[in-house]
Amino acid sequence: MADPELVDVVVIGLGVGGEEVAGRLAEAGLSVVGVERDLVGGECPYWGCVPSKMMIRAANAIAEARRVDGLAGTVEVRPDWAPVARRIREEATDTWDDTVAVRRFTGKGGRFVRGTARLDGPGRVRVGERVFQARHGIVLGTGTRPSVPPVDGLAGTPYWTNRQAIEVEELPESLLVLGGGAIGLELAQVFARFGVRVTVVEALDRVLAVEEPEASEVAAAALRADGVEIRTGVRAERVGHDGRAFTLHAAGGAEFTAGRLLVVTGRRAHLDELGLDTVGVDAGQRYLAVDDRLGVTEGIWAVGDVTGEGAFTHVAMYQAGIVVADVLDHVRRADGGTDPSGTASATGGAAGATGAGGSDRAVPRADYRALPRVTFTDPEVGAVGLTERQARERGVNVQVGLARLPSSARGWIHKAGNEGFVKLVADADRGVLIGATSVGPAGGESLSALVVAVHAAVPLARLRQMIYAYPTFHRAIEDALRELS
Ligand SMILES: Cc1cc2nc3c(=O)[nH]c(=O)nc-3n(C[C@H](O)[C@H](O)[C@H](O)COP(=O)(O)OP(=O)(O)OC[C@H]3O[C@@H](n4cnc5c(N)ncnc54)[C@H](O)[C@@H]3O)c2cc1C
Repeated sequence: MADPELVDVVVIGLGVGGEEVAGRLAEAGLSVVGVERDLVGGECPYWGCVPSKMMIRAANAIAEARRVDGLAGTVEVRPDWAPVARRIREEATDTWDDTVAVRRFTGKGGRFVRGTARLDGPGRVRVGERVFQARHGIVLGTGTRPSVPPVDGLAGTPYWTNRQAIEVEELPESLLVLGGGAIGLELAQVFARFGVRVTVVEALDRVLAVEEPEASEVAAAALRADGVEIRTGVRAERVGHDGRAFTLHAAGGAEFTAGRLLVVTGRRAHLDELGLDTVGVDAGQRYLAVDDRLGVTEGIWAVGDVTGEGAFTHVAMYQAGIVVADVLDHVRRADGGTDPSGTASATGGAAGATGAGGSDRAVPRADYRALPRVTFTDPEVGAVGLTERQARERGVNVQVGLARLPSSARGWIHKAGNEGFVKLVADADRGVLIGATSVGPAGGESLSALVVAVHAAVPLARLRQMIYAYPTFHRAIEDALRELS
């Protein structure tokens, strides 16, 4: 075996989070090795956010065109998947080639290694025959893969995950979607709008079960209006494939048949075979337990989906900022006070002025109270903070206010496609919002005002004094504030 190569930091997994950390540490002057076994950039640009949102953009254009009837004349819509597939291939993914992304990283001074990395004792990382000894730390950004339920017969069939659904060049006639979460609903609506006969099968009693029940109702109604069959409370028991079609047998005897089966029942962290046991970390965890500066154990940090703090690109980017600041802070201390970039405290910002354990570490602590989440169905479902139920379960003295978009001025003007609402969850004792949901044609955009309110704990009295532009969708926030009781 070769002698270990001495470097400052090794980053394992160059998805959204890992690439950001590795690139910024390299720019700060550290010697950084970034290891990626698949594509630099990870799930988001190649099989996640970016291509799925291109699909949604196209599907929404079709839906808007269909709304012309009754508002502005008539339009004949003939959906064609070819431009969507081409855009994903050529503009989003370079035909699933990461040459540009690798150059982006090496251009910042990082060393790129293609391969599967494994921890090999404290400070050591092995990639095939090569071994790296990290002087200052190791960052784990290994992400997730689809979690496939142990349904009898499923493993032997050519089912799709998000990857095949994103890469598809020719649409099937019919599609079964197993899982009614955000990814399942987004893709179900896209395919339905392009003429695919889509059935969503969800084991729980409602789709988008992590969000407010009112959001589940609006989303389900919207998808049904697009022709999607939604079956909730249906537990898949067995799957068969006869070479042409899938049959899903559910508990209670129901059967569903379609040309393709898309399994989107959650994600699972990439932790197995990472060698966690060699550094004294429990290898059987579902997600990597981290402290509020993303530390896993001495000299090891984690970033992104693998932490289980929210499987979103914006969470990975947010955490990356904290990891970068904390690693640089450690380097500064280890080197006797010299920050390699001169940015450690600047990156930390005022929020971290209190530091850890009474020390003066100017590194911010992660705070997920105002974590926004958006499901990009039409209408969009945006949410931040706690749902009403979560707040009640925590014993908060809850006030709730809800305003429907169709009865707002903008909703009434908008007419076709105006479904949605704003729901606010307030802590009556503190007089602040602790959660909010914004559903509508611009639900994700309207959410931003509510994220500020929850993040900064803006008093309800101040929110009521604000001026909300007329006639915007976000004016429904003012209506919902009036409804708080
Ligand atoms: C269909 C879909 C749509 C989505 N839409 C959105 C959206 O609209 N908005 C949003 O915020 N989020 C969205 N997400 C989630 C988003 O893609 C993830 O939150 C994001 O990619 C997480 O980044 P990450 O760096 O944690 O992990 P990943 O992007 O998963 O990257 C991890 C990387 O680590 C590599 N790796 C793993 N193990 C090893 C190893 N041992 N050695 C070397 N390399 C390794 C993997 O190959 C991978 O490239 C979507 C996801 C999907 C599937």
